[in-house]
Amino acid sequence: MATPALMPVYPRCGFRPVRGEGCYLIGEDGQRYLDFASGIAVNALGHGHPKLVQAIADQAATLMHVSNLYGSPQGEALAQRIVDNSFADTVFFTNSGTEAVECAIKTARRFHYAEGNPQRHRLITFNNAFHGRTMGAISATNQPKMRDGFEPLLPGFAYAPFNDLDAALALIDDETAGFMVETIQGEGGVSVGTPEFITGLRKVCDEKGLLLVLDEVQCGYARTGKMWAYEHYGITPDIMSVAKGIGGGFPLGACLATEHAAKGMVIGTHGSTYGGNPLAMAAGNAILDVMLEPGFLDHVTAMGDRLRSALEQMIPNHDHLFAEVRGKGLMLGIKLKPGNEPREVVAHLRDHHGLLTVAAGEGVVRILPPLVIGEEHIAECVERLSEGARAFAPAAAS
Ligand SMILES: *Cc1c(COP(=O)(O)O)cnc(C)c1O
Repeated sequence: MATPALMPVYPRCGFRPVRGEGCYLIGEDGQRYLDFASGIAVNALGHGHPKLVQAIADQAATLMHVSNLYGSPQGEALAQRIVDNSFADTVFFTNSGTEAVECAIKTARRFHYAEGNPQRHRLITFNNAFHGRTMGAISATNQPKMRDGFEPLLPGFAYAPFNDLDAALALIDDETAGFMVETIQGEGGVSVGTPEFITGLRKVCDEKGLLLVLDEVQCGYARTGKMWAYEHYGITPDIMSVAKGIGGGFPLGACLATEHAAKGMVIGTHGSTYGGNPLAMAAGNAILDVMLEPGFLDHVTAMGDRLRSALEQMIPNHDHLFAEVRGKGLMLGIKLKPGNEPREVVAHLRDHHGLLTVAAGEGVVRILPPLVIGEEHIAECVERLSEGARAFAPAAAS
């Protein structure tokens, strides 16, 4: 059997999108799909948003790439805007989420080194976590499906159950650097950190001089109706990785930190050839132009509430398949009744009902629409989900 030219690490389906229009993807045969997957929470403004397209086209024609050895008006502007609208004092730009996580891990380790405590290198992370696919990021999760065969992994991580504060505190010792946690787990199954858990981690970090590293690659950047998911908890992190929505489809990520937490990240300690190049910065600035417009976050919150209540109303009609809705804002998940495989439900909705969703852990189907959806898209989603659920019913039900 010949190996495909694209390394076969993904279970790719037959659908091959060739064009995007707003909240829809169009396949080779011209068929339209309602895109409530958004490239996995990436296409925050949908497909072909005129401001994003124009900004990228203009910048590509002007200056695409220069080295980070030169000054960067676009990069300074975007970093300043992120600083002005977050907990952070400083930002490092990357090309992906996992690189943002990598920078976060390095920033945390380097902080304790700079403080004269190099033995404090271990980050406590959580079951079902997903931080990306670099060696650092797979070492920060204890999920065997991502780690098997890649050992030896990076030392310096300990794992506790998500939302179990006592278990996390019990792992603290003289070598602990801090905690790294998704404020809302995405791949793990749209599990929302409880207030006690997230604020409890913050409190112990303050008491013991540890760092709270949040991974908001999926839940940040307006996805939950606030610019950052941590705002729902009334706390701020010391370090945070973001990506996905930050470029709206252009590859971009960022590691944010306070001045204090970033004290070890001095000249020569980190770098990236492409990270933060003018083209990426133009995309990032265009996204923020739209997201910082008055009313944008309110729209996400309103659409999130509406979608959630529509899903909650629908679920009892299909209780052979759907168990509950979870998540925040427009980062939602439908937990399936036991025995149903999310991948099969996602494939069924895609192939027979023209609706794109994403499978996640814990038997969850993720609903991650563009943040610019309107009520008509919500109505269409729920209609397609209902039809899909009816058609998916086991034969015994008829
Ligand atoms: C997607 C994701 C990553 C990895 O991002 P990539 O761009 O795929 O490297 C890391 N952390 C979280 C929480 C994610 O959802």
